[in-house]
Amino acid sequence: MGHQIIKQPDGRLAVLSSFTDTFVLMDATPDEIVQWFADRAAEAERDRTRTVLGHVLADNPRAAYYQFAHTWDEACQLNQDHGGDLTYTEGKQDPPTQERCGFIHNRWVDGIYRERRRCIAKAGHTTGQFASDHGPWESAR
Ligand SMILES: [Zn+2]
Repeated sequence: MGHQIIKQPDGRLAVLSSFTDTFVLMDATPDEIVQWFADRAAEAERDRTRTVLGHVLADNPRAAYYQFAHTWDEACQLNQDHGGDLTYTEGKQDPPTQERCGFIHNRWVDGIYRERRRCIAKAGHTTGQFASDHGPWESAR
């Protein structure tokens, strides 16, 4: 079943891997256990998302979403039919100012859109294309 939390004789906590049948964490506090599992889940999700992004950026979304992959036009139609607030306008995206990066990121939390935000770091601070490469942020409309 993956990883099992086990209470040590001294009251601290260990994690046993069922893949290797060996401890992968020892002498941990409850908070450290929570953090360890959270970090693993976050990293797994980053990997999964990068894989999906690779397919989408290579114009092969079906490799990620199979027959459920939507075209841009289908997605826009769905959004319109369901009263989505966000609409796309060609050329609407704000050009970066001279001194700021200007990278735009639509922040999702728990599967729903929360905020459109703009990186206000110095222009050229990164060539990264992921939100994790950017920031600090300001709200952008
Ligand atoms: Zn940036």
